[in-house]
Amino acid sequence: MATPYNVAGSSRSLPNPTPCLSYWQRTTRAFPHLHENKQAQVPSKSKYVVVGSGIAGGLTAFELIEAGVNAEDIVILEAREAGSGASSRNAGHVRPDAFRGFSAYSKVHGEEQALKIINNERLVLERVDQFVKKHNVQCDFNLTTTFDVCMTPEFADYEAKSLEAFRQAGGDTSHIKFYDGEEAQQKTRIPGAVAAYEWPAGSSHPAKLTQFLLQAVISKGARLFTFCPATEVVQRTLDPVLWDVHTPRGTIAAEKIIHCTNAHAAQLLPALDPFMRPNRGQAQSLVPVPAFSGRGGLQSTFSLRYSLHHFYSLIQRQGDGTLVLGVSRSNPTLSPETIASRLSTDDSQYNEEIVEDALRTFGQIFPDYTSETAMHGEGLDHAWTGIIGMTTDSVPFIGAIESLPGQYICAGFNGHGMARIFTCASGVAQLVLGKSWSKTGLPECFQFSDERLLRLSSGDLPSIW
Ligand SMILES: Cc1cc2nc3c(=O)[nH]c(=O)nc-3n(C[C@H](O)[C@H](O)[C@H](O)COP(=O)(O)OP(=O)(O)OC[C@H]3O[C@@H](n4cnc5c(N)ncnc54)[C@H](O)[C@@H]3O)c2cc1C
Repeated sequence: MATPYNVAGSSRSLPNPTPCLSYWQRTTRAFPHLHENKQAQVPSKSKYVVVGSGIAGGLTAFELIEAGVNAEDIVILEAREAGSGASSRNAGHVRPDAFRGFSAYSKVHGEEQALKIINNERLVLERVDQFVKKHNVQCDFNLTTTFDVCMTPEFADYEAKSLEAFRQAGGDTSHIKFYDGEEAQQKTRIPGAVAAYEWPAGSSHPAKLTQFLLQAVISKGARLFTFCPATEVVQRTLDPVLWDVHTPRGTIAAEKIIHCTNAHAAQLLPALDPFMRPNRGQAQSLVPVPAFSGRGGLQSTFSLRYSLHHFYSLIQRQGDGTLVLGVSRSNPTLSPETIASRLSTDDSQYNEEIVEDALRTFGQIFPDYTSETAMHGEGLDHAWTGIIGMTTDSVPFIGAIESLPGQYICAGFNGHGMARIFTCASGVAQLVLGKSWSKTGLPECFQFSDERLLRLSSGDLPSIW
């Protein structure tokens, strides 16, 4: 059967077979399971099949095992090398939205759900911190604070209104600090800052976190098959319900399938096609110049914001000092061609215009960063892309697919997976094991249902990111 790689702009596609490598992947090439079972035939049956080996797939398998599932009953299928998707290509933030998205979420999901969405992100940061400590995960997790820096008076006004709306609705703001004018400039080292908000957040080496999860489940007996895409899922028997998961290396009969396929979910679940939109994100790594080296390193993470859709994200890694700079997807300073090119599942290359924009703006925002005097080896190190799964109502698809009994989904994190997956994957594991939705503690608007798809089909909702 021909494999449908890379249908531009559609989530009815398999991941591109020739992706570029991110900074995170380039620094973890020795992971022993990177090419796990690359040639092996898949088993003819497995009680659980997890499709996708990103953080969602790895953590779902981990949580199933923690809840008592026999690890040997789990197969993880991965279309490319282990953890090759967005989980190993992102910008490294574990950054809860503290209030900014509240107004936009309220318009789409109502105030009560908007509060739950924001509270869930705060909980994820706690969960990641606890998980990393409990399991001694060597993923360079750095619990720190983050700044939302308003670079224009208009955006400062937008943030102030969002914070007020969040507070009025009963949202907890006790962990958020506000700085205006000169104080904002001093706290952030940004002379052009109009205002800034600061709250707890973290950063991590996302590929190391993904690899920890895969290593942990494999060591317990789960089997990972890399370079082994699931190409089709077909019902084998009705009673008992069994599904055939087709791959190029054999067919697996499974009772339960958990789709952790991010932007590619509609390849196996075509009904999702209009509601799951792949969007190519790009990030850059920079070796710091002296002003950002040694004690001059940035201690907090940043979202540098000109408007809701025009922003840059920034972390500086504590270990090697590398700066990781992300660029918003519909940044208005980019050409229409570049913006249009981001509706793609092609993560094999990066866009030069985005690199130039990122470096130019970074130099403007942090004038201390003078790349003209950089020595050989300082400055731009690498640029890469990855595919983000955007849902048309800006919240993930989580839970049972009722029309396909035994199938579940945990996908569509809208570029915010690090701030969402740690509650969603444990939620989906509980659902697979028969618990009710209310036990997951997740916002109800995350729950997948045919009724939700029907609502989404009535038209586009305002974009939150
Ligand atoms: C450039 C960039 C910057 C980002 N920055 C941040 C950030 O700073 N903070 C944050 O919270 N989030 C960020 N994100 C988003 C975050 O990376 C994602 O939300 C998260 O990694 C999603 O995890 P996942 O496991 O659902 O998907 P993925 O990590 O993409 O995993 C899905 C896996 O499924 C595999 N797959 C797909 N289809 C099939 C199939 N049919 N058969 C077998 N395997 C299949 C893919 O190859 C992939 O490995 C960023 C994303 C990008 C691209």
